[in-house]
Amino acid sequence: MSQDDCLFCKIVDGEIPADIIYESDTAIAFRDINPQAPAHVLIIPRKHIATINDLEEDDEAVIGSLFTAAREIAAQEGLSEQGYRTVINCNEAAGQTVFHIHLHLLGGRGFSWPPG
Ligand code: AMP
Ligand code: ZN
Repeated sequence: MSQDDCLFCKIVDGEIPADIIYESDTAIAFRDINPQAPAHVLIIPRKHIATINDLEEDDEAVIGSLFTAAREIAAQEGLSEQGYRTVINCNEAAGQTVFHIHLHLLGGRGFSWPPG
């Protein structure tokens, strides 16, 4: 299920270290190495899925689990009440640089809309 040349598959498999703060059967979450906010966590499926464009019907539960993970992590980080931003970038125009789907959870500061 993991892809040999994928950085985030290597983190799932424990081959590359990360500051993992959440684990479930379907997802893991770890702190972003280059945080863009006081709290910046990446929530990823254990399964390798490159982009939103590659999602299949069978992936619906896995993708849903990224959001229940976000709810739990936001509570853990004390962000639930003040609010936080969740983002999934798809392909180059949106700024995707790692091609294993990840839900950014950003919090601890204000965020403007529309995003840049
Ligand atoms: P994106 O630009 O949406 O593809 O997001 C990729 C994110 O992965 C960026 O915010 C990077 O800072 C982050 N990142 C890249 N390598 C690592 C790593 N080894 N551990 C944690 N975060 C990483
Ligand atoms: Zn992967």
